[in-house]
Amino acid sequence: MTTNLDKPPHFIQQIINADLAANRVDKIITRFPPEPNGFLHIGHAKSICLNFGLAEQYGGICNLRFDDTNPEKEDQAFVDAITADVKWLGFEWEGDACYASSYFTQLYEWAMYLVTKNKAYVCELNAEQMRAYRGTLTEVGTDSPFRDRAASESLMLLDKMKIGEIDEGAMTLRAKIDMSSANINLRDPVLYRIKKISHQRTGDTWNIYPSYDFAHGQEDAIEGVTHSICTLEFAANRPLYDWFVAHLPVPSEPKQYEFGRLNLNYTVTSKRKLKLLVDEKHVAGWDDPRMPTISGLRRRGVSAQAIRNFCDSLAVAKTDGTVDVAQFEHFIRDDLNVNAKRAMCVIKPVLVRLTNTSDITLSTITAPNHPNNELMGHRNIPFSEQIFIDRADFTEDTSLSRKKFKRLVIGDYVRLRGGYIIRADEVIKDNAGAITEILASVVPNTVGKDAPEGIRPRGVIHWVDAKTAKNCRVNLYDRLFSVADPDAGEGHFLEYLNPQSLIKVTGCKVESDLALAVPGDYYQFEREGYFTRDICSDDELVFNCTIGLRDSWKA
Ligand code: ATP
Ligand code: MG
Repeated sequence: MTTNLDKPPHFIQQIINADLAANRVDKIITRFPPEPNGFLHIGHAKSICLNFGLAEQYGGICNLRFDDTNPEKEDQAFVDAITADVKWLGFEWEGDACYASSYFTQLYEWAMYLVTKNKAYVCELNAEQMRAYRGTLTEVGTDSPFRDRAASESLMLLDKMKIGEIDEGAMTLRAKIDMSSANINLRDPVLYRIKKISHQRTGDTWNIYPSYDFAHGQEDAIEGVTHSICTLEFAANRPLYDWFVAHLPVPSEPKQYEFGRLNLNYTVTSKRKLKLLVDEKHVAGWDDPRMPTISGLRRRGVSAQAIRNFCDSLAVAKTDGTVDVAQFEHFIRDDLNVNAKRAMCVIKPVLVRLTNTSDITLSTITAPNHPNNELMGHRNIPFSEQIFIDRADFTEDTSLSRKKFKRLVIGDYVRLRGGYIIRADEVIKDNAGAITEILASVVPNTVGKDAPEGIRPRGVIHWVDAKTAKNCRVNLYDRLFSVADPDAGEGHFLEYLNPQSLIKVTGCKVESDLALAVPGDYYQFEREGYFTRDICSDDELVFNCTIGLRDSWKA
């Protein structure tokens, strides 16, 4: 595991260090608070790694807490997917996951408390009127005509809201703060709205649901969260967060800190946009391997460790930024290069028939599973007089220089990876002139040995034994969007979808053992790239290309 420990402390670590030194806190408690209205994406991974990472580093606790205050968009399926993703990333929380909905009764009691303290009131302005009364950045707001109604009346109405006697949109509960505050969040923000929607956990118990602002800080306080870390767009909500903590009899005094969110180019990291991609079927689902979701990346063949290494490499700072996807890809390759087993798959096969069969003395070829790691063992690859090589690895053009074309040329030599040196002698073509078969001969006794005098193979190519090879499909992926910033263009982001983001290649040939591969087994198909088995391929053998071999990222 790489950790942040060898780097200078970032601003949140500095704050924690100071808090510990001054005895303001003794145990660090953080939380990761997703709303279960979609799957987690790579941006969330940054927040997960930060929150769980800090708890780990300081011997504290990080809660997984579902911010489930908005039932119309939420779903138990999202709760399950999020739980699985955080676990898969390798993080643990103490006890059960927490839920905002577990605190609904407490939050409601605190709402009544504010009313009795003359700090909240039931308002009957509708949404449009409320906007008009709120004012703008340059104009102060206007007090609601309901602002000074008696606390007893507000309490009575709040109860009617709660039990479902008031129509949706007819009333809200608002804090009584300051309609002329320079911070619009403090202009009597809404604490409760009427929503006659049943909730995935509380059923029909509630007809009103708390706003994000009224819920979040109080949830933190209930859980004893010491450092409540969120993204920069919540900076303007912080005075309100502090206001609630100051005006309610909460059991602890959490503090909110904001850091820059992670954006990646060539993709989108917004649940709303990802949901649109899913709902409009531009992708096959939340876990489509082109999606920047944790589950999509997992299905694509990216390891949890690669995601964590990438997140640990990111600056935790008070500015938003867009990270080049090449940086992420660098960490994906870096991890797979070390951890992926080597294997051979011929994506566009052409048959090679070896004609001097009496010179073929081996029926299996032993190859290491990793060139630099003996612990990963060896495998025996079947070998016979019929093999497949990739069409792109053969040419009849003898004018190509050795430097330009380090593969098989008619009349010339090449080495089969781990095996014999062969020479191409002849080609057989169909009526249309396409090559159907290459006739070749092996150079005897060349497995594991240097080339004999006078024979200089042009290079090394991969191959599979034709008699035992398994058919498979390979999914080749490209970026989901064809422009770096799909949100910056004139058009809607969907107009910049890359039509070539998925190419399915059938009829590929893979080493027979690969039929036993399971999703999450990582392979480097030699000379092609990194692959993992797809999850939806019980009867069909399908491999997803995680990423190609070449790394173009410059640190
Ligand atoms: P989205 O904008 O994708 O809808 P969200 O902020 O609404 O995301 P939540 O489920 O509320 O999604 O997010 C849970 C936590 O993850 C929050 O603390 C949020 O600040 C953090 N988070 C969300 N997106 C990012 C990101 N791109 N980078 C870092 N942290 C993020
Ligand atoms: Mg949110």
